[in-house]
Amino acid sequence: MTKGTNGMSAPENTTTRTGSCLCGAVRYAFSGVPDRLVACHCVQCRKTSGHYLACLTVNPDALDITADAGLAWYRSSEKAVRGFCQTCGSSLFWKANDNSILAVFAGTIDGPTGLQLCEHIYVGNRGDYYDLADGLPQKPAG
Ligand SMILES: [Zn+2]
Ligand SMILES: [Zn+2]
Repeated sequence: MTKGTNGMSAPENTTTRTGSCLCGAVRYAFSGVPDRLVACHCVQCRKTSGHYLACLTVNPDALDITADAGLAWYRSSEKAVRGFCQTCGSSLFWKANDNSILAVFAGTIDGPTGLQLCEHIYVGNRGDYYDLADGLPQKPAG
């Protein structure tokens, strides 16, 4: 897909990022402009990751799961499921029931992401063993 007189479109729109779980039994790719990258300190993210999670919202239609041999979904709440690798235990995805919102956990993206955290959410649930001193906005909930 190309646009413009020189045959090139905006780099951000054509960037394809890939990622995987630790063992490689789950792999994915997505392109397009990601919505936002937040650090989530909710209890669920803390439990599933062992710390807190960097969640990147992407267009659900833009995510291509290229390997799903290890992929399983855990119903973590009434409104969403979490995708993880049942071989190595990596947490990779959060998905709303109606598929309207999909988050990819940024730590599973391959190589440099070129992305930047924009805020911390659910800081009301954060652990008491770390401080947040990066100057980013902090929201008590989502
Ligand atoms: Zn795995
Ligand atoms: Zn969370």
